[in-house]
Amino acid sequence: MNYSQKDKLYNWHPYTQHKTAANFPAIVKGKDALLWDENGKEYVDAIASWWVNPFGHSNQVIADAIYKQLTTLEHVLFGGFTHNKAVELAEKLMTILPTNQKKLFYSDNGSTAVEVALKAALQYNYNKGIKKTKIIAFEEAFHGDTFGAMASSGISFFTEAFQGSLLQVDRIPVPTTGNEEKSIFELKRLLATNDYAAFLFEPLVLGAAGMVMYEPEALDKLIAICNDNHVFTIADEVMTGFGKTGKTFATDYLQHKPDMMCLSKALTGGTIPMAITSFTQEIFDGFCDDDTNKALFHGHTFTANPTGCAAALASINLLQTDQMQNHIRRVNESHLVFENKIKNHPKVKTSRVLGVIFALEIKTESEETYYGTMRNKLYNFFIEKGIILRPVGNIVYILPPYIITENQLQKVYQTIEKALEIV
Ligand SMILES: *Cc1c(COP(=O)(O)O)cnc(C)c1O
Repeated sequence: MNYSQKDKLYNWHPYTQHKTAANFPAIVKGKDALLWDENGKEYVDAIASWWVNPFGHSNQVIADAIYKQLTTLEHVLFGGFTHNKAVELAEKLMTILPTNQKKLFYSDNGSTAVEVALKAALQYNYNKGIKKTKIIAFEEAFHGDTFGAMASSGISFFTEAFQGSLLQVDRIPVPTTGNEEKSIFELKRLLATNDYAAFLFEPLVLGAAGMVMYEPEALDKLIAICNDNHVFTIADEVMTGFGKTGKTFATDYLQHKPDMMCLSKALTGGTIPMAITSFTQEIFDGFCDDDTNKALFHGHTFTANPTGCAAALASINLLQTDQMQNHIRRVNESHLVFENKIKNHPKVKTSRVLGVIFALEIKTESEETYYGTMRNKLYNFFIEKGIILRPVGNIVYILPPYIITENQLQKVYQTIEKALEIV
């Protein structure tokens, strides 16, 4: 048996119906935007391995930083101790985060970053004796798979089995073009009740919903309304952070900055699982008290893992190089050229580009579901052609490592054009 076959004996994969799933290719090597399976087949990783990998696979600079850290201090508990890499990373982040972000809390993944933000919003009010127990989120939001993050996610079949066990979350429409007023109206309607601790959102791009995009002006208005009503705003930048939208953070497009931000995915360049929730001074101060019980009693064993911090530092330094910024601009320009070419294709319903993110929606007769037949047909077609793309229903999107070559990118575009012929 090869790895692909042996895998079936033991491993339970995410979002997978194993009764019908085929054997999965076993990847044995990665370099830059390319991956190779055990049979030597080559794949272009056009979605940066679930949006985590901006600088390419097996990046030497990050690998060196990790190796050096592993042989200096691999881990130390963060309860009662600190370490130089957590301090250096914090100093670095303070130079790139919005200036209202003053305190950092470390955890392990995007979901935990969101959990920490939600718990902070709820406990801040509890500490002050204010009864605000609900959360506001977008209708098609995705914030992760742990309970609080899941409750905040609007994609129903992800959460259906757990109704009744979830945090109370009320939803407003995403302010896509034409829906801005409806979104504002619904937010104002909810806020009239005073029950809400926070508004949680994916800024400018809703990733799992199919790279649904909306304008900064619309989000600015929603944040301003929350500010007026003393409701915290939480920007979930787990997907959008670290250059994907063309700026370091999606919130860099905004006039009004959020009270909290959630970071993960590309934070360590796709190497070590790590996440950060950042806070304003005001929120942090809401936990500082002579009463010990008012502290944030939340923590994960590997909190602020030094190896993760070293990887994050190396990643942010890479992001800031002129070379990497040029890659981001180049990918964006290529996307715009491709979009211009493809948008009038008879099978294309809509298309959109922001930063390195490209998405197009294919016209369908009936409504296409998340893991529906068209989606599976497209997915299998791309894999067969050696391109890793994971369509969301009838939406095909590209979110490549920034260092993807122009040839590789053209191959991805051409394969998408061919895919339009088979659906
Ligand atoms: C992926 C994602 C998460 C969840 O992150 P995990 O690391 O998978 O837990 C949360 N929010 C957004 C916007 C995401 O894209």
